[in-house]
Amino acid sequence: MAVIIEPNLDLLYAAMNGSLRGVKAALKAGADIDFDIKNSETFSPGTALYIASYKGHVDIVKLLLRKGASVSKRTRSSFGPLHGAATEGKTEVVDLLVQHGATLDIRDGFQNTPLMRACNYNHVDTVRRLIELGARPDLTGGQLQGMRYYKPGTEIGKGENEESLKLVEEARKSKLLRCCNPTCGKPGYRSTGTLKLCGRCKLTRYCSRDCQKQHWSVGHKKCCGHDAYNHDEADPLQQRMADKSHMKHS
Ligand SMILES: [Zn+2]
Ligand SMILES: [Zn+2]
Repeated sequence: MAVIIEPNLDLLYAAMNGSLRGVKAALKAGADIDFDIKNSETFSPGTALYIASYKGHVDIVKLLLRKGASVSKRTRSSFGPLHGAATEGKTEVVDLLVQHGATLDIRDGFQNTPLMRACNYNHVDTVRRLIELGARPDLTGGQLQGMRYYKPGTEIGKGENEESLKLVEEARKSKLLRCCNPTCGKPGYRSTGTLKLCGRCKLTRYCSRDCQKQHWSVGHKKCCGHDAYNHDEADPLQQRMADKSHMKHS
């Protein structure tokens, strides 16, 4: 009798359980590194990278990134690996994903960026790191305010994530943004044009052409234009904007 081998499922289980050896074995057995189970319109467990990211299995994340796993592929419920790591406060994983080109200000199906999610769940270190890496603190449309957690007995409007919100608000007031090339991170202002937007995705910004090139080669090439959440309700206007091309003053 033939043995049924399911390397794709083995890969997901190994990522879930934190088994580096299992991940290696599944890949060796031919697993698709970006496999996800699509058993429902609205839910999927996510790729191995997504799972390892929110679980905080740093060694597995490193391996998957080295092997070329997609940093932009979403779960059916609209989250990218960076949303997963940010929501669970896995700062080291956040760092790794960004170093490999993950776009900081991607939106989930509720318009939340990874920064908003880290803030809502009050992962102060992750919030701080995302801002340092260049996440925009001034974006609206998500649920940054709406998802405050209220502790019984606290003053209305002062939830448990007060410390994280304060960091975001301070960063917003400074109006400083950062170059999205993670090895640069140079601060600048959009208003004076010291940081220029990637004209294609309009989600990343750079202090120079060199930084744009460098970020392109470490992974932005794979993400640029693929960061909009593409469910059936994807906004056609956003798609059109993503198709326009390159490097404009913001
Ligand atoms: Zn730069
Ligand atoms: Zn881009």
